[in-house]
Amino acid sequence: MTSLRLSNVRPWGGDPADLHIANGVLTGEPDPGAEVIDGAGRLVLPALVDAHAHVDKTTYGGPYRRHTAGSSLASLIDNERTHRESLGPVAARAGDLLDRYIAHGVLHVRSHVDVDPVIGLASIAGVQEAAASRPVSMQIVAFPQSGLITRPGTLALMADAIDAGAHLVGGIDPAGFDGDPIKHLDAIFGLAADKGVGLDIHLHDRGTLGAWQIDRIVERTNALQLQGKVTIAHCYALSTVDDARQGALIESIAAADISLTTTAPGTTPQLPLARLAQAGVRVGLGHDGVRDLWSPYGTGDLLEKVLSLAVMSGYRRDDDIDSVLRLATHGGASVIGLPDYGLTAGCAANLLLLPVSSTVEAVTERPQRQVIAHGVLL
Ligand SMILES: [Zn+2]
Repeated sequence: MTSLRLSNVRPWGGDPADLHIANGVLTGEPDPGAEVIDGAGRLVLPALVDAHAHVDKTTYGGPYRRHTAGSSLASLIDNERTHRESLGPVAARAGDLLDRYIAHGVLHVRSHVDVDPVIGLASIAGVQEAAASRPVSMQIVAFPQSGLITRPGTLALMADAIDAGAHLVGGIDPAGFDGDPIKHLDAIFGLAADKGVGLDIHLHDRGTLGAWQIDRIVERTNALQLQGKVTIAHCYALSTVDDARQGALIESIAAADISLTTTAPGTTPQLPLARLAQAGVRVGLGHDGVRDLWSPYGTGDLLEKVLSLAVMSGYRRDDDIDSVLRLATHGGASVIGLPDYGLTAGCAANLLLLPVSSTVEAVTERPQRQVIAHGVLL
């Protein structure tokens, strides 16, 4: 039995307290034989949760590459298909990125991983290999990045990916990219229902077209009784329709218990976070890609994304910035369904110790931190 006492720490910036850990779990019980770590008044947060990643795409571990893609979604996808083979094995690159995640305290990840007739399940296997040897919990979404209806053979590969251990079925812009929204949605919902797994669907389509697809996703979620198991990623449509339409969409998303993830986009207004919170919609935050053929940004520290989202949301008040940090912790945990997440007794002891005085300062300073994974100080 290994036990730890973190003395004089401030859980989520609250009053000083001692935290007790035994066998990787937070307990309410002091153990006189526990090893003591002097917290020196540091802030304690639960591990960061990246609810939307693409760890198979990263170029970490390799040299810096100039950005060669155009700005449209189609151009970004084509550019990746042209250059991805030159990047080297997925397991090594994803592993290098996960090492950075872990050093920053990102210990829970939902990653979309490309599946298509050229790469087959190789990227899924590479991410599984990288995660298996590291103290990080990984959910994999079988992701038809290059199209589903427009790329015959992909759906069967996605089914194989679920059989090979991927956790969720993915999708991408059923109308704007794949060109046949009903066929696309029927295919991915059918596969998810058949395999008994959830879905996580990329939806960049904006305005009326995106909103119409949200309605179709809600219909299928309810019809197949997949409430609580469906996530819409990005969901730009919500912030690009009028106020009344936005309210109606949020109501139906909440009623179907569909969760959302955002990656703090620079090209679209941010999600209506306060309105979503009021409706009880689960929202998580993710990196999207980290230094890949899509974007040069990111270091694996999810607090950078928290900062970006807070700044782009125009937030200055402590409560508002704190609410964005919650997306990167409790919000993400609720999206990906972590059962024992948090800072209370009974939760898994996956924690960060940060030398700052408040949650806001954690976001603005983003200092080096100590990480405890499953009760072990890394
Ligand atoms: Zn994505």
